[in-house]
Amino acid sequence: MTVAQELETKTVLLKNCSVCQADLKNAPLKYYVSDPFQVSAEQFRLVCCSGCKTWILNPRPSRKEMEKFYESDFLFEPNTKKKSALGQLADLIQAFNLCSEVNWVKKHLSGQEKYLDYSAGNGQILQKIMEGKPAITAYATEFSPTYRQYLAQFLPEKQVKSDLKEIDVPLDVISAFGVLEHVEEPYELLEAFHKQLSPKGKLILSVPNPESIQRMLFEKNWYNWIAPRHFNLIPMSSLKKLSARAGFSVVEEKHFFLRTNSGSFALSMFPGLDPLKKIPAWKLLAYAVLFYALIPVELAFAQFGRSAFMGVVLVKDTNKS
Ligand SMILES: [Zn+2]
Repeated sequence: MTVAQELETKTVLLKNCSVCQADLKNAPLKYYVSDPFQVSAEQFRLVCCSGCKTWILNPRPSRKEMEKFYESDFLFEPNTKKKSALGQLADLIQAFNLCSEVNWVKKHLSGQEKYLDYSAGNGQILQKIMEGKPAITAYATEFSPTYRQYLAQFLPEKQVKSDLKEIDVPLDVISAFGVLEHVEEPYELLEAFHKQLSPKGKLILSVPNPESIQRMLFEKNWYNWIAPRHFNLIPMSSLKKLSARAGFSVVEEKHFFLRTNSGSFALSMFPGLDPLKKIPAWKLLAYAVLFYALIPVELAFAQFGRSAFMGVVLVKDTNKS
């Protein structure tokens, strides 16, 4: 069996941390967590690297096996049926909740840039950015063919790609929201972004924060483990070191995202209220109340970098090409 075939079909037990290469045998903390979407009844093991404090899913399911965990995510269908008033309100709120990401990217676009949203999903964030910055040339990469069809509804087909490698122009701004934690080799992805960016280009990232108060409070029940889909949860200090190794410096940090911070608090307490699962209206309402009630709590944690989601803006180091 070739190495490529093994990766495809075999469960991978990492010997070394995918962020700092430390030996994972001596990792002191371990959690056994279950899949919140119950695709599998298995328990997944997370270990905390003693070198860089990144939480690593170890072992990892094979690539083939991982497909089934993502499949259900790609079955998203926009509901075209007439919705109840509560359903319509929920949609409006959900669209509004993207404002942290949308405004953050808009701040870094002056107007004419080539901008890529990496792993753009169904394109909700990208579409809003394009509305605010109509002169940019927008690109999207998306692994899922279903989502690529959505993206092609508002982007020319040649600007919708399945992978970064297929884009052959230098980009000025790349965003990757909630991506790094899903990939096998975060360093390799950062390097690929570095290669694709123009000399003055910017990379905008967001990831869950494993040093958040939420992680400490909820431990193995923290919502953001999303096992086995999240392979690495990297703390800020290690994210900075990893970025530096890939040729980037951090020029901005962000610690509050309306869409994700308080939501993961509510769902860590009450996983049954997840609006991604099909839930009755009263549960949706209960989730909304908690979502808004917990915003000030997460804003307070954000003041000292301990909120549940965090982001950085990276630029290329001038002394490294
Ligand atoms: Zn490590």
